[in-house]
Amino acid sequence: MNKYDAIIAGGGIMASSLAYNLRKDGFTGSIAVFEKDQMYEFSSTPRSEGGIRLSFTTEINILMSRYSLDFYKNFAKEMEVNGESPQIDFKQNGYLYLGTSETMPRLIEEANFQNRCGANMKVLSVEEIHDIIPELNTEDLAGATFDTDAGYMDPYTVLQFYAKKAKSMEVDYIYQPVQSLLAENGKITGVRLESGEEYHAPIVVNACGAWSGALSETIGVDIPVKPFRYQIFCLDLTKKFSKSLPLVFDPTGFYFREEGEKVITGMPHKDPYSFEFSSNKSTFEEEVWPIFYERSQLFEQLKVERSWAGLYDFNTVDQNAIIGGHPEMNGYYVITGFSGHGFQQAPAAGKGLSELIRLGKYETMDLSSLSVERFANNQLILETAIH
Ligand SMILES: Cc1cc2nc3c(=O)[nH]c(=O)nc-3n(C[C@H](O)[C@H](O)[C@H](O)COP(=O)(O)OP(=O)(O)OC[C@H]3O[C@@H](n4cnc5c(N)ncnc54)[C@H](O)[C@@H]3O)c2cc1C
Repeated sequence: MNKYDAIIAGGGIMASSLAYNLRKDGFTGSIAVFEKDQMYEFSSTPRSEGGIRLSFTTEINILMSRYSLDFYKNFAKEMEVNGESPQIDFKQNGYLYLGTSETMPRLIEEANFQNRCGANMKVLSVEEIHDIIPELNTEDLAGATFDTDAGYMDPYTVLQFYAKKAKSMEVDYIYQPVQSLLAENGKITGVRLESGEEYHAPIVVNACGAWSGALSETIGVDIPVKPFRYQIFCLDLTKKFSKSLPLVFDPTGFYFREEGEKVITGMPHKDPYSFEFSSNKSTFEEEVWPIFYERSQLFEQLKVERSWAGLYDFNTVDQNAIIGGHPEMNGYYVITGFSGHGFQQAPAAGKGLSELIRLGKYETMDLSSLSVERFANNQLILETAIH
């Protein structure tokens, strides 16, 4: 009874995008998704900022975001279930990278590369920055680059509709925690739940996000993914910016963007590697606030209205996605390690892994550079624009 053709452990955005793509692309076998947290309270996807950008420094990341951006623009239509379409509130306000005379040459070089790979980056003068945000202090700036395609959307609605759509395509979602993977003679055979029940399949995908490294250890197979606590602060400014804000990257590396009437920003926790979810408002006051106040006097009076923390599925080796079959275990696949840019890569990652599982090769995009084998072959993906 407990047999499936494919099992996916974890039921977040990666699992749901994969399940949806498998079905959409014609996989007719039975699929089960096991999710431990039916409310997704601690899952990374709903705790994320839902951002998408093309301003990366490796071609593979730009390629994936380009695919995903086009997909998200069509999301409402694509995910319609029984006449109900998601409202994902996609705001394409752009990402603005402020540059000093020291950093502008590098930003321009990156923008040229990004445009060659399909982005729509613009180089802006200080006057043009002022046109976008009149209240910004630009004294120390020499210009900026502007990722005009970038934006953000509601990640919770995206996740809910991916799962809803997958369920409507006969994917079984079983809300039970997986205790361990099961393997025999170098082959994956299924999963054991915390209840003790076992489910069997010749294909098992680990889509457990920040928990994926720990789950993989249950069969003694290493994937370099750890939970990395990242905190978000939601600010209520007494005086508001006069125009709609893009996401603004300060030369110090800190950023802010609007969130409705509020402004949000984020930073890693000082003690990032743990399954902890607390956040510390005083870090914002001590470390970020003085920098923002220098950048705009509108930050003088504000209240940190709320803060929260979520976990990056952090790839400790090269901070990029790990997608594909595991060379040490037949039938075992992983889709994890996205390190802070997973929300935006989910449509591309799900599409790619669906092709690899069904056809044994990539067709739409070549994601082979993100394979597990790259660590052993020392062919790391060295992306410098990781925020
Ligand atoms: C604060 C924050 C901000 C972010 N901002 C952005 C952003 O702006 N743009 C962007 O692209 N990315 C962003 N990210 C990263 C992004 O959220 C993640 O890369 C992405 O959501 C990962 O998706 P996932 O499906 O792998 O993980 P999850 O959404 O965490 O899904 C994994 C699921 O597996 C389940 N699970 C775990 N273990 C088990 C088990 N043993 N049995 C059954 N189920 C299990 C969990 O409950 C979870 O629901 C951000 C992340 C954080 C934390």
